[in-house]
Amino acid sequence: MTKKALVCGGGGFIGSHLVTRLKKEGWFVRAVDLNYPEFRKTEADEFVIGDLRDPRVVDSVLDIYFDRVYQLAADMGGAGFIFTGENDAEIMHNSAMINLNIAKRASQIMPGLVFFSSSVCLYPDNNPLDKKIKYNEERAYPAMPTNEYGWEKLFSERVYQNYSKNRNLKIKIARFHNTFGPEGKWTGGREKAPAAMCRKVAETKDGGTIEIWGDGKQTRQFVFIDDLLEGVERLINSDFSGPVDISPKETISIDELVDIVASVSGKKINKAHIPGPVGVTNRKVNSLLMKEKLGWTPEMSVREGIEKTYPWIEKQVKSKKMVRQAHHK
Ligand code: NAD
Repeated sequence: MTKKALVCGGGGFIGSHLVTRLKKEGWFVRAVDLNYPEFRKTEADEFVIGDLRDPRVVDSVLDIYFDRVYQLAADMGGAGFIFTGENDAEIMHNSAMINLNIAKRASQIMPGLVFFSSSVCLYPDNNPLDKKIKYNEERAYPAMPTNEYGWEKLFSERVYQNYSKNRNLKIKIARFHNTFGPEGKWTGGREKAPAAMCRKVAETKDGGTIEIWGDGKQTRQFVFIDDLLEGVERLINSDFSGPVDISPKETISIDELVDIVASVSGKKINKAHIPGPVGVTNRKVNSLLMKEKLGWTPEMSVREGIEKTYPWIEKQVKSKKMVRQAHHK
């Protein structure tokens, strides 16, 4: 029998790639989101436009048995959205409502499992030079996320964990790092660092200068979308429920990210460091738990991922320019 998946947030970046992957594997897919995917036609068998903050919507989309429920819907964005403090009330309220509704409804319908996409944003900002700190999943407690987005993820992890404990809901939780690839947000304020850097470089002439928030020394781990989805699949197929980080081998600074993007674009790019929302200074997490439980680590280097992402963003930048020019004629 065809297996069924519900993808909440199926119109988003990760959700729409996931729908494509599930369809390739022969699943029946129902997706739900506030919006259709921005950059492609959905491949879902059913796409419901609905607001998951509303429990009636959640009840109506989670009305049959699904082998898997993927919970990816969240009010989220990059540093320009989650680190400024201006969107904190919405971030907390909207995402918590979605997760409370889904966990409760799932415990009534009892799908095969609920996968929850958490985030490494729930870790505290530790000094990377402090050798006493263990960079593993246990670092989430004692809790001190540096932003409300991280607090909501920690809260919602606990919501699912408690439904698992008290109602036997089968859950899987992965903490995602900054994930990138084609067909992700690249402009408008919610884009994340890799897409923002690709856009800035694509918009700049050879020998030009781009602006970077902070001193560029803040480090991150970036995961290419295909690797992320592979990690999720491996977690689901393992007998471990998480939380586990989907962690790549590389940790790089934002300046190094810009150098990679510039080199892929073939341009010489200068950097101007300006004040802006930078988030934590260090986001290193080791991948020991993932290696132990999933027997795997993401394979793609940041450079290889940027080689797949930059041309797509460059094309978006060029076609936007052409539209603007056409309007001015
Ligand atoms: P995204 O913003 O592209 O996708 C989230 C989707 O949720 C959007 O399409 C949005 O419309 C939808 N949504 C928001 N509120 C909704 C509501 N009330 N009802 C229905 N749909 C709603 O983000 P993404 O990058 O695809 O992220 C997917 C998940 O992974 C999120 O939970 C996010 O927090 C988590 N995550 C992503 C990253 C990353 O780097 N992309 C990193 C860590 C965690």
